[in-house]
Amino acid sequence: MKCPVCNVEMKLVNYKGVEVDFCEKCKGVWFDLKEIDQLSDGVKEFNIVEPRLENMKLVKGINESVRECPRCGKEMDKVTMNSKPPIFDYCPNDCGYWFDADEVKEYVKNNMTAVEKPSVQNMVEILKRMY
Ligand SMILES: [Zn+2]
Ligand SMILES: [Zn+2]
Repeated sequence: MKCPVCNVEMKLVNYKGVEVDFCEKCKGVWFDLKEIDQLSDGVKEFNIVEPRLENMKLVKGINESVRECPRCGKEMDKVTMNSKPPIFDYCPNDCGYWFDADEVKEYVKNNMTAVEKPSVQNMVEILKRMY
C-alpha cells in the first residue's frame, strides 16, 4: 500500500501490538478501521476510543492538501474527534484513518478513557509504557 502523502510503499510495522502501515519517509501511519480499538488491548487501565462518525467533526479551510485513501482512492475528509486535536484524515468509505507523524500520539492522549481513575503515578507509568 502506498503512502497517501509521499506515494512510496509503506511498511507493515507493529505499533503497540497492532499491525499498521507506516511510511518511513514522512512517519505517517495508516490504521484500518477498528485497529485503533486494539491499541488499548494490552493496557487494562485505559480504553482508546475509536473514532465514531457521530463524534467526528469535519474540519474545513485548513491549509493541508487533500489526500486520497490508500485503500480505495477516494478523497479523504479532514476530521477531529470531539473537536480535539489532532486533525486527521478519514476515508468516507470507512477504510480507515491516516495520521501524520506524531498525530497518533496526540490522538491517543486525547482519547484515552480511564477504566478506573488512575493516580498521577499510575498515569505516568501508563504513558511510559505506551510511548
Ligand atoms: Zn509518507
Ligand atoms: Zn477508502
